[in-house]
Amino acid sequence: MRKASLGDLSREDLERVLRIMGAKTSAAPSIFLKYYKGREGELNSLSVRLWEKVIAKYPPAPKPSVEKRVSAKDGTVKFLLRFEDGAPAECVLLHGKDGRTTACVSSQSGCACGCKFCATGRLGFRRNLFPSEIIAQFQTVLAEAGHIDSIVFMGMGEPFMNWDNVKRAILILSDPKAFAFSQGKITVSTVGIMPIIEELISSDLKIKLAVSIITSSDEKREKIAPMQKEYPISRVISLVRRYIAAKRTQILAEYILFEGENDSLEDADSLIGLLNGVECRINLIPVNRGKPEDGVDRIAQAKAFQQRLMDAGFRTYLRLEKGADISAACGQLSAGN
Ligand code: SF4
Repeated sequence: MRKASLGDLSREDLERVLRIMGAKTSAAPSIFLKYYKGREGELNSLSVRLWEKVIAKYPPAPKPSVEKRVSAKDGTVKFLLRFEDGAPAECVLLHGKDGRTTACVSSQSGCACGCKFCATGRLGFRRNLFPSEIIAQFQTVLAEAGHIDSIVFMGMGEPFMNWDNVKRAILILSDPKAFAFSQGKITVSTVGIMPIIEELISSDLKIKLAVSIITSSDEKREKIAPMQKEYPISRVISLVRRYIAAKRTQILAEYILFEGENDSLEDADSLIGLLNGVECRINLIPVNRGKPEDGVDRIAQAKAFQQRLMDAGFRTYLRLEKGADISAACGQLSAGN
């Protein structure tokens, strides 16, 4: 079994470890600075001994190998990382129109949720990723870009099915003595795992929440997203209303436009009904699952769908998939397949 690494510990975890070792918890910031920023000078002679003791019990995280690096015409770069035990994970560098850079990271190797449209879902589940393995993806993308403006957990896996490790990774990324990355620039996307949304309502985390609505009708959703049985989207959105009120925030709602399946104006009205009064921005993600032979101009259809939402007062973004030519768009991460 893999030994826990220093890179898997949040500051609070490290303080607990120090307490058990009989050491002062005040050494934790110096240990973080040395580990993440290589600042040797941070340690005095006492903490050097302590450092060795900590490292003996919690060794540095092994670095994954970069098995594949593919870049797309629009500047998107996709990496396939392979961890010690052979588990794969993909991460992606995305460039916005305004020059802003986003690291899209995976939370699991594969995914157990089995959404029918998703390449990761078809891959099945291999295992949860450790915090250090999530951070290794961020570091890989950072090394490529030089600077990262935001992080999204929208790669392989359902982040809330590996929440303990994802939360630790977020705490480490945002720790001032590690990466000092603002939590407000970290978005976690979920198909609607309600117990974790419930936990977020009372947590201090300041991350952003994205909810994969996928499609608004319970009936249609059940056919393509098996988690719908346990967490129906209508109940998820009721809970999200509480989340928004408690956090005084908004969410990102992701709706997938399946050509000819849920892109009609009636479907738009159903989405408007579901999200009525919900503070959100809606991302529309067109997906082509084989062209329906109905002679309808699907781009015009998507634009009409968007217009209907905008007329109802929703801020809406029709996403032209970034990196689609290298399978780095939503639901397309599948470990290099
Ligand atoms: S869409 Fe997300 S939750 Fe569904 S199978 Fe794919 S990775 Fe898992």
